Amino acid sequence: MISIKGLHKQFGQLEVLKGIDLEVEKGSVVVVIGPSGSGKTTMLRCLNVLETPTKGAISIEGQTLDFSTSVLKKNIASFRRLTGMVFQSYHLFPHKTAIENVMEGPIIVKGEKKDVARKKAQALLEKVGLGEKLDSYPAQLSGGQQQRVGIARALAMEPKVMLFDEPTSALDPELVGEVLKVMKDLAEEGMTMIVVTHEMRFAREAADEVIFMDHGVIVERDTPEAIFTNPKEERTRKFLNLLQ
Ligand code: ADP
Repeated sequence: MISIKGLHKQFGQLEVLKGIDLEVEKGSVVVVIGPSGSGKTTMLRCLNVLETPTKGAISIEGQTLDFSTSVLKKNIASFRRLTGMVFQSYHLFPHKTAIENVMEGPIIVKGEKKDVARKKAQALLEKVGLGEKLDSYPAQLSGGQQQRVGIARALAMEPKVMLFDEPTSALDPELVGEVLKVMKDLAEEGMTMIVVTHEMRFAREAADEVIFMDHGVIVERDTPEAIFTNPKEERTRKFLNLLQ
């Protein structure tokens, strides 16, 4: 489903991704862990082409962007639609209601009819447990509710893959669970997901595979069971020990 080959990203002199190779199967949930600054967010942003990789290639569902050659802008636009991104901060439009936030993308980007978009947005908000909050403005919602609107908004574009960049890091601890629950439900429905998170419990319970990144490379990848109970690499072990 996803294939990343030799992905490099440099910001000026700083080489942030130093050759990432990764294959992700359809329907699998990959959790990415690693110290701050190791390149986790940059990797996700490259998948969504919010950052342009310096070299390497990414394929998703048969569409390939090879950054070692020049890449056409129109190819980037259609490629970007394959993935939905959920950010740490929700970036909702403050002057639009929950349902308007979810409808916006399909109407503007896909040219969907308003009533169709509204119906779908309502179903998605019900799915994330916000059926009662369709007409609330972001300021009237808790952080956890806003993030669930963020998830519904990403789903409204009908992506093939969902990318989550520390979706619960900005939340008060008591609100983390409701967002993780929505993510777990999505995983169980068979959505292909790549999740950068510090929530090790989520990784244990929902991941098919855990990837440990450090200094711009994938140091180790394995089942959660293996990574958490018997990591092979010293760097992984050190990182996990620090968390305890
Ligand atoms: P992580 O998600 O693992 O914390 P990031 O991918 O956010 O790591 O960052 C990796 C490195 O890239 C950090 O040193 C960060 O400062 C740097 N970096 C990220 N984005 C930019 C940018 N737009 N310009 C310059 N440096 C950046």
